[in-house]
Amino acid sequence: MKALVLLSGGLDSTTCLALAVEHYGKENVEGLCIFYGQKHTRELRAARAVAAYYGISLTELDLARIFAGSDCTLLQGSTGEIPKESYAEQLEKTDGKPVSTYVPFRNGLFLSSAASVALSKGCSVIYYGAHADDAAGNAYPDCSEAFNNAMNEAIFIGSGEELHIEAPFVDKTKADIVAEGLRLHVPYELTWSCYEGGTVPCGQCGTCRDRAAAFAANNAKDPALKKAGKA
Ligand SMILES: [Zn+2]
Repeated sequence: MKALVLLSGGLDSTTCLALAVEHYGKENVEGLCIFYGQKHTRELRAARAVAAYYGISLTELDLARIFAGSDCTLLQGSTGEIPKESYAEQLEKTDGKPVSTYVPFRNGLFLSSAASVALSKGCSVIYYGAHADDAAGNAYPDCSEAFNNAMNEAIFIGSGEELHIEAPFVDKTKADIVAEGLRLHVPYELTWSCYEGGTVPCGQCGTCRDRAAAFAANNAKDPALKKAGKA
């Protein structure tokens, strides 16, 4: 049984990769990294470093043109600033809608793309790192358990029951993910979560704040910050 892991280069997907390697062995695991027109390529470089660390092959796919008309603040086409607030603060202003860093139906597109790649490469399971903190308050509705269940069913049926999704963190918090990653000795110093580019994480965007809180909840230091001289 072979697994395809959606690898962004961030904390969640890298922990997901570590779990897949533990379950299936690295010889049965491949990575898929999708570039979607971010303002920087920092995550892509992190994904390459993580794939090299685990000794797995990485397929890179560029779907940036699909989002060319989007004003999502993560993307090149947007002049909007990436919010320097927690998700809870951002959600107070969105009136129940996703946050400005929500990329239109990203996980739907990514999972569909991954399904085609997985079937082409003889994989029977797709791993991805969606988790409950991102789905909370509808910040990223394509990270929710309901969405995951629907996509899993669609992919299972549409693949002739050859392929399914594993989302091991869909009901877990980011702190739970870090706990699992510490057990698995995930090389977090290679990962990149910050929405900004640059050489060190900004510490202010929603995902930097979530990441810091997740390490703090585990009484652990984030090795990515240690490397950058921030901890
Ligand atoms: Zn940041």
